Amino acid sequence: MKVEAILSGKGAGVVSVVPEDTIATVARVLAEKSIGAVVVSDGRGGLAGIITERDLVRALARFGAETLDHLVSELMTRNVVTANVGDSIDQVSERMTRGKFRHVPVVDGAKVIGMVSIGDVVKHRIEQIEAEASAMRDYIATA
Ligand code: AMP
Repeated sequence: MKVEAILSGKGAGVVSVVPEDTIATVARVLAEKSIGAVVVSDGRGGLAGIITERDLVRALARFGAETLDHLVSELMTRNVVTANVGDSIDQVSERMTRGKFRHVPVVDGAKVIGMVSIGDVVKHRIEQIEAEASAMRDYIATA
């Protein structure tokens, strides 16, 4: 199964912030949207970085309450591992495992068109296993 299938299931579009936003803004967006990561847009539709709840927790341990006043540009990860719609879900899962992160933005050229989270990957894997088990049961019942 491809990344395309995940995006068509959850809809295209991605929640983003800009490097000049504060961490307070990121915390509010993550809470309002019930998500764990936002992409950081370069303001021209391109990808400047990614910032996740894990970055916020690390910064809280380091800077305490003043974390909220820091800028996204200070805490974001700039070297972002991405996927294309044609990549397989297994490929994306492997990138997450190797990089020890749970979010992979989907890009079309320089433009970000979606986000795949580890939750999406697990959901599709379970659906796949259930479909295989059901096919196996049908096969046994009719054999
Ligand atoms: P996560 O597990 O997604 O919360 O992210 C753990 C760490 O990896 C954080 O420092 C993120 O900024 C970083 N990170 C998350 N996703 C990616 C990605 N696709 N490419 C590179 N770094 C990432």
